[in-house]
Amino acid sequence: MATIFDGHSDLLYDVTRRRLEGESRVLERRHLDRLRRGGVEGLVLALWYGWGGGRTFWPGVPGGESPAHRLEVMLACAQAEFAQCPWLAVVRTAEEAESARAEGKRYAFLAIEGLDGLEGPEALDRLAALGLRLGTLTWNEENRFASGATQDPGRGLTPLGRQMVRRMEELGIVVDVSHLNDGGFRDVMRLAAGPVIASHSNCRALCPHPRNLSDEQLRAIRDSGGVVGLNAHHRFVHEDPAKRTAETLALHAARMAEIMGVEHVACGFDFCEFMGPGNDAAAGLEDCGRAGAFLECLGRLGMSPAEREQIARGNLLRIFREKQ
Ligand SMILES: [Zn+2]
Repeated sequence: MATIFDGHSDLLYDVTRRRLEGESRVLERRHLDRLRRGGVEGLVLALWYGWGGGRTFWPGVPGGESPAHRLEVMLACAQAEFAQCPWLAVVRTAEEAESARAEGKRYAFLAIEGLDGLEGPEALDRLAALGLRLGTLTWNEENRFASGATQDPGRGLTPLGRQMVRRMEELGIVVDVSHLNDGGFRDVMRLAAGPVIASHSNCRALCPHPRNLSDEQLRAIRDSGGVVGLNAHHRFVHEDPAKRTAETLALHAARMAEIMGVEHVACGFDFCEFMGPGNDAAAGLEDCGRAGAFLECLGRLGMSPAEREQIARGNLLRIFREKQ
Protein backbone atom coordinates (compact mmCIF):
# COMPACT_ATOMS: atom_id res chain seq x y z
CA MET A 1 0.00 0.00 0.00
CA ALA A 2 1.30 3.42 -0.95
CA THR A 3 2.13 5.89 1.79
CA ILE A 4 0.63 9.35 1.75
CA PHE A 5 1.86 12.89 1.23
CA ASP A 6 -0.98 15.01 2.63
CA GLY A 7 -1.00 18.35 0.81
CA HIS A 8 -2.89 20.30 3.46
CA SER A 9 -2.55 19.88 7.19
CA ASP A 10 -3.56 22.30 9.94
CA LEU A 11 -1.44 20.62 12.62
CA LEU A 12 0.42 23.88 13.24
CA TYR A 13 -2.84 25.26 14.61
CA ASP A 14 -2.82 22.59 17.31
CA VAL A 15 0.91 23.10 17.85
CA THR A 16 0.46 26.85 18.37
CA ARG A 17 -2.58 26.57 20.61
CA ARG A 18 -0.96 23.97 22.86
CA ARG A 19 2.48 25.58 22.97
CA LEU A 20 0.82 28.83 24.07
CA GLU A 21 -0.68 26.77 26.92
CA GLY A 22 2.79 25.58 27.90
CA GLU A 23 2.96 22.22 26.13
CA SER A 24 5.92 21.11 24.08
CA ARG A 25 6.59 18.26 21.61
CA VAL A 26 2.95 18.52 20.56
CA LEU A 27 3.34 16.69 17.25
CA GLU A 28 5.21 13.80 18.80
CA ARG A 29 2.99 13.39 21.83
CA ARG A 30 -0.41 14.04 20.27
CA HIS A 31 -0.18 13.32 16.54
CA LEU A 32 2.71 11.07 15.57
CA ASP A 33 0.90 7.81 16.33
CA ARG A 34 -1.97 8.76 14.05
CA LEU A 35 0.42 9.81 11.28
CA ARG A 36 2.10 6.39 11.57
CA ARG A 37 -1.20 4.54 11.60
CA GLY A 38 -2.40 6.36 8.49
CA GLY A 39 0.84 5.78 6.62
CA VAL A 40 1.41 9.54 6.25
CA GLU A 41 4.99 9.93 5.04
CA GLY A 42 4.84 13.70 4.57
CA LEU A 43 2.69 16.79 5.05
CA VAL A 44 2.24 20.29 3.82
CA LEU A 45 2.00 22.17 7.11
CA ALA A 46 -0.02 25.33 6.65
CA LEU A 47 0.36 28.47 8.69
CA TRP A 48 -3.36 29.15 9.14
CA TYR A 49 -3.58 32.11 11.45
CA GLY A 50 -7.09 33.27 10.53
CA TRP A 51 -9.28 34.92 13.14
CA GLY A 52 -11.91 32.32 12.19
CA GLY A 53 -14.84 34.45 13.26
CA GLY A 54 -13.39 34.49 16.79
CA ARG A 55 -14.07 30.74 17.22
CA THR A 56 -10.34 30.14 17.53
CA PHE A 57 -7.89 30.50 20.42
CA TRP A 58 -6.69 33.86 19.07
CA PRO A 59 -9.10 36.11 21.03
CA GLY A 60 -7.24 34.97 24.18
CA VAL A 61 -3.81 35.93 22.82
CA PRO A 62 -2.60 39.49 23.58
CA GLY A 63 -2.37 41.33 20.25
CA GLY A 64 -4.30 38.50 18.60
CA GLU A 65 -6.53 40.88 16.66
CA SER A 66 -3.58 41.71 14.36
CA PRO A 67 -3.04 39.22 11.51
CA ALA A 68 0.65 40.14 11.33
CA HIS A 69 1.06 39.36 15.03
CA ARG A 70 -0.80 36.07 14.74
CA LEU A 71 1.48 35.01 11.91
CA GLU A 72 4.58 35.83 13.95
CA VAL A 73 3.29 33.90 16.96
CA MET A 74 2.51 30.87 14.83
CA LEU A 75 5.85 31.00 13.03
CA ALA A 76 7.71 31.17 16.35
CA CYS A 77 5.72 28.23 17.74
CA ALA A 78 6.26 26.21 14.55
CA GLN A 79 10.00 26.78 14.63
CA ALA A 80 10.28 25.90 18.32
CA GLU A 81 8.27 22.74 17.66
CA PHE A 82 10.37 21.73 14.63
CA ALA A 83 13.49 22.03 16.79
CA GLN A 84 11.97 19.30 19.01
CA CYS A 85 11.09 16.95 16.14
CA PRO A 86 14.15 14.92 15.15
CA TRP A 87 11.81 12.54 13.30
CA LEU A 88 10.48 15.30 11.01
CA ALA A 89 12.53 16.98 8.27
CA VAL A 90 11.30 20.39 7.12
CA VAL A 91 12.15 20.31 3.43
CA ARG A 92 12.04 22.56 0.39
CA THR A 93 12.30 20.13 -2.51
CA ALA A 94 11.02 16.73 -3.53
CA GLU A 95 14.61 15.48 -3.47
CA GLU A 96 14.99 16.52 0.17
CA ALA A 97 11.67 14.83 0.92
CA GLU A 98 12.83 11.58 -0.70
CA SER A 99 16.11 11.72 1.27
CA ALA A 100 14.24 12.22 4.53
CA ARG A 101 12.01 9.27 3.68
CA ALA A 102 15.02 7.10 2.88
CA GLU A 103 16.38 7.95 6.36
CA GLY A 104 13.10 6.82 7.93
CA LYS A 105 11.95 10.34 8.74
CA ARG A 106 8.70 12.06 7.92
CA TYR A 107 8.92 15.32 5.99
CA ALA A 108 7.04 18.61 5.92
CA PHE A 109 6.80 21.43 3.42
CA LEU A 110 5.86 24.81 4.86
CA ALA A 111 2.84 26.68 3.47
CA ILE A 112 0.91 29.81 4.32
CA GLU A 113 -2.88 29.95 4.21
CA GLY A 114 -3.83 33.55 3.51
CA LEU A 115 -1.44 36.49 3.14
CA ASP A 116 -3.35 38.87 5.41
CA GLY A 117 -0.41 39.06 7.83
CA LEU A 118 1.90 40.42 5.13
CA GLU A 119 2.15 44.06 4.08
CA GLY A 120 3.24 43.37 0.54
CA PRO A 121 5.56 41.44 -1.77
CA GLU A 122 8.78 42.27 0.17
CA ALA A 123 7.45 40.35 3.17
CA LEU A 124 7.42 37.17 1.09
CA ASP A 125 11.21 37.17 0.81
CA ARG A 126 11.71 36.44 4.50
CA LEU A 127 9.17 33.61 4.45
CA ALA A 128 10.80 32.11 1.36
CA ALA A 129 14.14 32.24 3.19
CA LEU A 130 12.50 30.31 6.04
CA GLY A 131 11.48 27.60 3.58
CA LEU A 132 7.96 28.58 2.52
CA ARG A 133 7.01 26.67 -0.66
CA LEU A 134 3.26 27.12 -1.02
CA GLY A 135 0.71 29.84 -0.37
CA THR A 136 -2.90 30.91 -0.78
CA LEU A 137 -3.69 34.61 -1.19
CA THR A 138 -6.64 34.46 1.19
CA TRP A 139 -8.36 32.23 3.67
CA ASN A 140 -12.13 32.91 3.46
CA GLU A 141 -11.76 36.64 4.05
CA GLU A 142 -11.51 39.57 1.69
CA ASN A 143 -8.08 41.17 2.11
CA ARG A 144 -5.96 43.72 0.27
CA PHE A 145 -4.81 41.13 -2.25
CA ALA A 146 -7.89 39.08 -3.14
CA SER A 147 -11.20 37.66 -1.92
CA GLY A 148 -11.98 34.30 -0.42
CA ALA A 149 -14.41 31.75 -1.86
CA THR A 150 -17.31 32.89 0.33
CA GLN A 151 -16.96 36.56 -0.73
CA ASP A 152 -18.25 38.34 -3.87
CA PRO A 153 -17.29 35.97 -6.71
CA GLY A 154 -16.87 38.89 -9.13
CA ARG A 155 -14.02 40.63 -7.27
CA GLY A 156 -10.68 39.64 -8.76
CA LEU A 157 -7.13 40.23 -7.58
CA THR A 158 -6.16 43.74 -6.59
CA PRO A 159 -3.07 45.31 -8.19
CA LEU A 160 -1.17 44.42 -5.00
CA GLY A 161 -2.52 40.87 -5.25
CA ARG A 162 -1.09 40.59 -8.75
CA GLN A 163 2.29 41.72 -7.43
CA MET A 164 2.09 39.06 -4.74
CA VAL A 165 1.46 36.31 -7.31
CA ARG A 166 4.43 37.45 -9.39
CA ARG A 167 6.74 37.63 -6.37
CA MET A 168 5.59 34.23 -5.10
CA GLU A 169 6.48 32.62 -8.39
CA GLU A 170 9.84 34.41 -8.53
CA LEU A 171 10.64 33.02 -5.08
CA GLY A 172 9.52 29.48 -5.96
CA ILE A 173 6.40 29.68 -3.77
CA VAL A 174 3.69 27.66 -5.52
CA VAL A 175 0.41 29.57 -5.85
CA ASP A 176 -2.49 27.65 -4.27
CA VAL A 177 -6.01 28.67 -5.39
CA SER A 178 -7.95 26.72 -2.74
CA HIS A 179 -9.97 29.38 -0.87
CA LEU A 180 -9.92 31.92 -3.72
CA ASN A 181 -13.19 33.20 -5.15
CA ASP A 182 -13.94 32.69 -8.85
CA GLY A 183 -12.77 36.16 -9.87
CA GLY A 184 -9.44 35.68 -8.15
CA PHE A 185 -9.07 32.19 -9.64
CA ARG A 186 -9.56 33.58 -13.14
CA ASP A 187 -6.96 36.33 -12.56
CA VAL A 188 -4.38 33.94 -11.07
CA MET A 189 -4.72 31.56 -14.02
CA ARG A 190 -4.16 34.42 -16.47
CA LEU A 191 -1.17 35.74 -14.60
CA ALA A 192 0.71 32.74 -13.22
CA ALA A 193 3.37 30.85 -15.10
CA GLY A 194 2.33 27.74 -13.15
CA PRO A 195 2.00 25.10 -12.07
CA VAL A 196 -0.90 26.39 -10.00
CA ILE A 197 -2.45 24.02 -7.50
CA ALA A 198 -5.61 23.78 -5.39
CA SER A 199 -4.25 21.98 -2.36
CA HIS A 200 -7.56 21.17 -0.65
CA SER A 201 -10.68 21.47 -2.84
CA ASN A 202 -13.13 18.99 -4.38
CA CYS A 203 -15.47 18.91 -7.40
CA ARG A 204 -18.36 21.38 -7.53
CA ALA A 205 -20.22 18.97 -9.83
CA LEU A 206 -20.52 16.51 -6.92
CA CYS A 207 -20.78 19.02 -4.05
CA PRO A 208 -21.76 22.56 -5.06
CA HIS A 209 -19.79 24.54 -2.49
CA PRO A 210 -17.81 27.66 -3.48
CA ARG A 211 -14.68 26.06 -1.94
CA ASN A 212 -14.93 23.32 -4.57
CA LEU A 213 -13.95 23.66 -8.24
CA SER A 214 -15.98 23.61 -11.44
CA ASP A 215 -14.95 21.28 -14.25
CA GLU A 216 -13.66 24.32 -16.15
CA GLN A 217 -11.48 25.28 -13.18
CA LEU A 218 -10.18 21.71 -12.90
CA ARG A 219 -9.14 21.87 -16.56
CA ALA A 220 -7.42 25.23 -16.00
CA ILE A 221 -5.35 23.72 -13.18
CA ARG A 222 -4.51 20.72 -15.36
CA ASP A 223 -3.41 23.06 -18.15
CA SER A 224 -1.09 24.91 -15.74
CA GLY A 225 0.56 21.59 -14.86
CA GLY A 226 -0.88 21.65 -11.34
CA VAL A 227 -2.75 19.25 -9.09
CA VAL A 228 -5.92 19.32 -7.00
CA GLY A 229 -5.85 17.82 -3.50
CA LEU A 230 -8.87 15.83 -2.27
CA ASN A 231 -10.38 17.41 0.84
CA ALA A 232 -11.97 15.17 3.50
CA HIS A 233 -13.70 18.00 5.40
CA HIS A 234 -17.36 16.95 5.60
CA ARG A 235 -18.88 20.09 4.08
CA PHE A 236 -16.88 19.77 0.87
CA VAL A 237 -17.71 16.09 0.26
CA HIS A 238 -21.50 16.09 -0.22
CA GLU A 239 -24.55 18.25 0.51
CA ASP A 240 -26.35 15.28 2.05
CA PRO A 241 -24.85 14.53 5.48
CA ALA A 242 -25.51 10.80 4.95
CA LYS A 243 -23.24 10.84 1.91
CA ARG A 244 -20.27 12.55 3.56
CA THR A 245 -18.15 9.42 3.42
CA ALA A 246 -14.74 8.23 2.28
CA GLU A 247 -16.52 6.41 -0.58
CA THR A 248 -18.02 9.69 -1.81
CA LEU A 249 -14.62 11.39 -1.62
CA ALA A 250 -13.29 8.57 -3.79
CA LEU A 251 -15.95 9.55 -6.36
CA HIS A 252 -14.47 13.07 -6.35
CA ALA A 253 -11.09 11.48 -7.11
CA ALA A 254 -12.59 9.50 -9.98
CA ARG A 255 -14.23 12.60 -11.45
CA MET A 256 -11.04 14.62 -11.16
CA ALA A 257 -9.17 11.81 -12.91
CA GLU A 258 -11.79 11.78 -15.67
CA ILE A 259 -11.67 15.57 -16.19
CA MET A 260 -7.94 16.22 -15.67
CA GLY A 261 -6.17 12.88 -15.88
CA VAL A 262 -5.08 10.94 -12.82
CA GLU A 263 -1.67 12.64 -12.84
CA HIS A 264 -3.34 15.84 -11.61
CA VAL A 265 -5.10 14.34 -8.57
CA ALA A 266 -3.52 14.54 -5.10
CA CYS A 267 -4.44 14.52 -1.40
CA GLY A 268 -5.05 17.59 0.75
CA PHE A 269 -7.19 16.10 3.46
CA ASP A 270 -7.53 19.20 5.66
CA PHE A 271 -8.06 17.16 8.83
CA CYS A 272 -8.97 19.51 11.65
CA GLU A 273 -11.04 17.39 14.02
CA PHE A 274 -8.64 18.61 16.74
CA MET A 275 -10.16 22.09 16.38
CA GLY A 276 -13.37 20.90 18.01
CA PRO A 277 -17.04 20.51 17.02
CA GLY A 278 -18.03 21.32 13.43
CA ASN A 279 -14.71 20.19 12.01
CA ASP A 280 -15.52 16.57 11.27
CA ALA A 281 -14.07 14.81 8.28
CA ALA A 282 -15.91 12.31 6.08
CA ALA A 283 -17.11 9.07 7.71
CA GLY A 284 -14.47 6.40 7.26
CA LEU A 285 -11.78 9.08 6.94
CA GLU A 286 -12.18 10.72 10.33
CA ASP A 287 -8.56 11.67 10.90
CA CYS A 288 -5.13 11.14 9.39
CA GLY A 289 -4.96 7.69 11.01
CA ARG A 290 -7.49 6.56 8.38
CA ALA A 291 -5.71 8.10 5.39
CA GLY A 292 -4.27 4.78 4.22
CA ALA A 293 -7.71 3.16 4.32
CA PHE A 294 -8.94 5.79 1.86
CA LEU A 295 -6.67 4.31 -0.80
CA GLU A 296 -8.69 1.10 -0.55
CA CYS A 297 -11.78 3.09 -1.61
CA LEU A 298 -9.88 4.16 -4.73
CA GLY A 299 -9.00 0.52 -5.36
CA ARG A 300 -12.66 -0.47 -5.18
CA LEU A 301 -13.35 2.05 -7.98
CA GLY A 302 -10.88 0.15 -10.14
CA MET A 303 -7.80 2.34 -9.74
CA SER A 304 -4.56 0.42 -10.11
CA PRO A 305 -1.82 0.42 -7.45
CA ALA A 306 0.24 2.73 -9.69
CA GLU A 307 -2.64 5.22 -9.99
CA ARG A 308 -3.22 5.13 -6.24
CA GLU A 309 0.47 5.80 -5.63
CA GLN A 310 0.29 8.84 -7.95
CA ILE A 311 -2.69 10.24 -6.04
CA ALA A 312 -1.25 9.33 -2.64
CA ARG A 313 2.13 11.01 -3.09
CA GLY A 314 3.70 11.07 -6.56
CA ASN A 315 1.69 13.84 -8.21
CA LEU A 316 2.13 16.39 -5.44
CA LEU A 317 5.83 15.62 -5.01
CA ARG A 318 6.24 16.29 -8.73
CA ILE A 319 5.10 19.90 -8.16
CA PHE A 320 7.97 20.51 -5.76
CA ARG A 321 10.36 19.01 -8.26
CA GLU A 322 9.20 21.16 -11.14
CA LYS A 323 9.24 24.45 -9.21
CA GLN A 324 12.94 24.47 -8.30
ZN1 LIG B 1 -8.20 25.77 4.13
